Amino acid sequence: MPPFACRLPAAFAGRPVSLATRHGKERLLARPFRQGLDLRLVLAAGFDTDLLGTFSGERPRPADALETCRLKAEAGMDATGLDLGLASEGSFGSHPSLPWLTVGTEWLTFVDRREGLVIAESLVAPRTNFDGRRVSPQDDIQDWLDRVGFPSHALIARPHGRDGAGQPLIKGLRTPAALAEALDRCGRASADGSVWLETDMRAHCNPTRRGAIRSLAFRLVRRIARPCPACGAPGWGRCDVRVGLPCRWCGHPTERLLAEVWGCVACAHQEERPRQDGQLTADPGDCPRCNP
Ligand SMILES: [Zn+2]
Ligand SMILES: [Zn+2]
Repeated sequence: MPPFACRLPAAFAGRPVSLATRHGKERLLARPFRQGLDLRLVLAAGFDTDLLGTFSGERPRPADALETCRLKAEAGMDATGLDLGLASEGSFGSHPSLPWLTVGTEWLTFVDRREGLVIAESLVAPRTNFDGRRVSPQDDIQDWLDRVGFPSHALIARPHGRDGAGQPLIKGLRTPAALAEALDRCGRASADGSVWLETDMRAHCNPTRRGAIRSLAFRLVRRIARPCPACGAPGWGRCDVRVGLPCRWCGHPTERLLAEVWGCVACAHQEERPRQDGQLTADPGDCPRCNP
């Protein structure tokens, strides 16, 4: 009998999970985990997730997002003494293969210390307002403010060209009055009067990001509830992809997704699965031979 056969999802029923967050993410995550797995989230209070780096760059991040997310979950478990932990992390920047496109990637990691399992899911958000710009006193920034969703999405201001200790860094700007005051204060602290303005990507300041985190929570809950077909451990799901979808005209492999690789977090079992959209060939426009 597979070792995990009887443990899902009843194995988790009623158990508390530490959640390491400072930015109101418990409101996004509590319901999917309670409804899907009967897990109860417990805030890891007094634990400073900023020790692992911050979005706004006061502290550089020591590891990549996936690793940071796991470290955060572990730190939350250390703080609460619980053997289940959850943490969320986001990263924002250029799309890996489409550099003109800005994307947000959200990570959510679940750790079960009793069973030695780490189950992670990520989601590339098709929509993000992540952006930043230099603002000089004479600039009209209304179009930019509209585009980044201000004031429903908050902003961060700092003097342009003067990062670091002793310089103002004003986060969570949500009203035109607060923004005007921050522009004035940071402008006076800057050598040339200009200000660096950027989107505040912390979850409680960013409804677009909150939507992505909520979708990701449901995705992770479904994954945790899915047992490995070989050993029965929770967390069966996509772990890798294979590219090489053949061109519709000449059959040459392209860089487009060919198949998904699904794997187990406890054993070495893997299975290859066709694309979920059923597409079997790639557009010749993506082919290195037909469209070099
Ligand atoms: Zn071709
Ligand atoms: Zn397995």
